[in-house]
Amino acid sequence: MTVEIVDPATGLVTYRHELMGAADIEQRLQAAADAFPGWADHSLQDRGAILRRIAAQLRTRRDDLQQAMTHEMGKLKAEALAEVDKCAAACEYYADHAADYLKPQLIDTEAQRSYVRYEPIGCVFAVMPWNFPIWQVFRFLAPAFMAGNVALLKHASNVPQCADLILAVCRDGGLPDGVFDVLHIDNEQAAEVLRDTRVKAVTLTGSERAGRSIASNAGGQLKKSVMELGGSDAFVVLDDADLDKTVAAAVKSRFDNSGQTCIAAKRFIVVDAVADEFTRRFVEAAGERQYGDPNERGTTLAPMARADLRDELHKQVQGSVAKGARILVGGEPIAGTHAGYPATVLDQVGPGMPAYDEELFGPVAAVIRVKDEAEALRVANDTRFGLGGSVWTRDPVRGERFAQRMECGAAFVNAIVKSDARLPFGGSKQSGFCLLYTSDAADDSLRVDLGGRRIIKK
Ligand code: NAP
Repeated sequence: MTVEIVDPATGLVTYRHELMGAADIEQRLQAAADAFPGWADHSLQDRGAILRRIAAQLRTRRDDLQQAMTHEMGKLKAEALAEVDKCAAACEYYADHAADYLKPQLIDTEAQRSYVRYEPIGCVFAVMPWNFPIWQVFRFLAPAFMAGNVALLKHASNVPQCADLILAVCRDGGLPDGVFDVLHIDNEQAAEVLRDTRVKAVTLTGSERAGRSIASNAGGQLKKSVMELGGSDAFVVLDDADLDKTVAAAVKSRFDNSGQTCIAAKRFIVVDAVADEFTRRFVEAAGERQYGDPNERGTTLAPMARADLRDELHKQVQGSVAKGARILVGGEPIAGTHAGYPATVLDQVGPGMPAYDEELFGPVAAVIRVKDEAEALRVANDTRFGLGGSVWTRDPVRGERFAQRMECGAAFVNAIVKSDARLPFGGSKQSGFCLLYTSDAADDSLRVDLGGRRIIKK
């Protein structure tokens, strides 16, 4: 089957590629199985040296990777370059720290010596999304490689050139044959790959819908799984928030990457005392986001990744307006053949509206007004998601107390939710679960960020 790739900034087909057939898939599955014992036998030092060379290759091919991201899913040039840099840094981080994460844990017993040792499990099948097409892959790949696992990637169908470039970077960095490969396959073929006994675990980053399907398939086979799913992060503005800082962070957190970030702030829960002032300033700053060519320096709002995703988002906006939400800025697709949607702010959002109940995966902010801090906490937790959240207040003690009661994997005080290789990452509730990587095992942990001072509570 031929898949056509449409550049979301122009609406033109820029690339066509063929899905793989059964023989190609079989060859890659067997190559991974054959490569595993040798790779697992490499010393951590050797694996780390290869990962460092991969980091160097990422930097060498920075511009190619940026162009692929920009043409396939519309990412702003500056954001794409920063993403490549973050991947290179993550490779180096895991090369430096894997020995520490993986060191045997000594346990005191009556025996001469008791310890827990970490063993690789074999071939990890990765199903990845398009929103950070390079980062999402390296986020799992770097720790998986260091732990001695091999991997097969099924990337989102709209970013095949990103997938091929990742493979080229890994090969040019000296990764032995079979340790990593790309499968250009559809979701039915992916289900078959997951059922194959040579695949030992699956890691998915994607929507709840994909999570349900893949997790049930993995469960049926009793295979380990990591689910990194959607979110509807609360951004809570208390009455004593520093509004200059808060508004700037709100705009960045909602509209960077054209709003297509799992840990973007999506629900802006604002106490009445500052709601008018916050909303006025937020709307003004959102309206300054300039839609345009993602390769141009002046562009501050990229197209969405695909026209169908833009149309889905617009339906959520219309559904919310039909139930009483008010559009303060934006709210209509930008005319043209591209997948552009303007920076949009909805006010008076409440339960029963898509903007309250569902994830808005695009540049639309939902403002929910609440009377006080207690109601803010209730509304922040009134969601099936539990990825991240943030609270904004001049009082860090009050902020930390609030953050500790937010039901999510990562709660930040006066800072935007972000991922960082040094810290655990993962969602609670329906935002997923992580069981596989020692370095990523953040399930149900709570992270609080106090302007540089990070506390992780389990
Ligand atoms: P998606 O539609 O679920 O796709 C993600 C990946 O899953 C793609 O490779 C997709 O392949 C595949 N897929 C979808 N349905 C599948 C099925 N039934 N069986 C097997 N594979 C399936 O999600 P997306 O639109 O790419 O990404 C956006 C979502 O990902 C948002 O909900 C976002 O919050 C979430 N996300 C979460 C995190 C996190 O760390 N928690 C990070 C980034 C994104 P095709 O493209 O071929 O359909």
